[in-house]
Amino acid sequence: MATGNVAIVGTQWGDEGKGKVVDLLTPAFSIVARYQGGHNAGHTVFVNGRKFVLHLIPSGILHAGVTCVIGNGVVVDPEALFAEIDELRREGIEPQGRLFISERAHVILPYHRDVEQAAERARGDRRIGTTARGIGPSYEDKSGRRGIRMADLADEEPDGHLGDTIRANVCARNTTVGGEALDWRTVRRDLLAAWQRLEPLVANVSKLLDEAAQADRRILFEGAQGTMLDVDHGTYPFVSSSNGTAGGICAGLGVPPRAVGEVLGVAKAYSTRVGSGPFPTELGGAFGEALRESGDEYGASTGRPRRVGWFDAVVVRHAARLNGLDALALTKLDVLDGLSEIKVCTHYRCGDQELTDMPAGGATLARCEPQYETLPGWSSPTAGQRRFEDLPVEARRYIARLEEVTGQTVSLVSTGSDRHDTIIRPDSTVARWLS
Ligand code: GDP
Repeated sequence: MATGNVAIVGTQWGDEGKGKVVDLLTPAFSIVARYQGGHNAGHTVFVNGRKFVLHLIPSGILHAGVTCVIGNGVVVDPEALFAEIDELRREGIEPQGRLFISERAHVILPYHRDVEQAAERARGDRRIGTTARGIGPSYEDKSGRRGIRMADLADEEPDGHLGDTIRANVCARNTTVGGEALDWRTVRRDLLAAWQRLEPLVANVSKLLDEAAQADRRILFEGAQGTMLDVDHGTYPFVSSSNGTAGGICAGLGVPPRAVGEVLGVAKAYSTRVGSGPFPTELGGAFGEALRESGDEYGASTGRPRRVGWFDAVVVRHAARLNGLDALALTKLDVLDGLSEIKVCTHYRCGDQELTDMPAGGATLARCEPQYETLPGWSSPTAGQRRFEDLPVEARRYIARLEEVTGQTVSLVSTGSDRHDTIIRPDSTVARWLS
């Protein structure tokens, strides 16, 4: 089953430009499948100058004939889903018949948003900086075995168990959140109304993917967020609530390990992170501000300014091992155009210790001092370049050094937000996938 399937994962803190890379690779695949996260993901894709921001629906939907799958590992807010479907329809794209949502996917309900906002407020300075869209609490309900799945909506009868679950959850929400109480009957009524629209999209996606694989249809697995936001392997507790690393694919879609195939890691030519938590190579001051501006580093989902920093090889090596990367896609190289010098963090110093691997403890990581190498910048632009040999020699040296310090091969370089502003290196892993 493995032949030909590819996973695309973020190697940093998300927002690496996975949307564009997925979009580029999609023509070689029949199916694009998401396996975790919620509508906090926010892929931005430019097609022929038109901007599409997709939060929940895989960007494969922009390609005619491609089937898109939302796995059981994703939590689905019906309102957010319908907003995206309506937006696509306005652009002449019809998702029905090409978009399938797992019957085992959990639903995000209004009380999840209320609970998350209250929890973030209560944390004060220790707030996680979530998007407050109810994603975390929906995963909490899933693990706490009080969540509501698509299948529960399908099963519902007039006096079924759904009402009991909603009543208990809303009651808990009213106690913890305070303020104006929610009425569980309204929540149930709205949810059953939403089901009318959800039903034609809901399917056994594990079976769908298995049948597709039997028919030699290639699957592209699309990770949301990034390795450092993985609930197990990221900078816990400043992480998402799911496994965005390649390991999450099997559980999040109901496919066996051999289905995963090869893995492409997406890394920005520098680092960013949104929300709170440790970020060793963070750049503050006017320089950080300028980098944020040139990279347009504002969240696709929330518009929040992203924190920016130098490329951190400790982070990308961590991601390379966890995801078993076969190649790297390096994005936003153009954002570094015009800098006189560029730094790369090769390892950390923590007290009298040199660390080459990511420490698990947040306090240790906070004490780590990044150790940099300084490389010369370039004065002629990489922006819009489409051939590797046309890149300034310093940019090529920068890429070569990143390959050395990460132990990975850069197969693809992105030099702008447009689909065409891309270099796919001849004879590379990515070129092979596309051939
Ligand atoms: P994702 O969540 O990993 O897909 O990342 P986002 O879509 O949130 O962020 C990536 C942003 O960078 C989007 O606005 C892209 O259009 C943009 N982008 C992607 N690749 C490049 C690139 O090579 N250069 C520039 N300047 N922008 C890029």
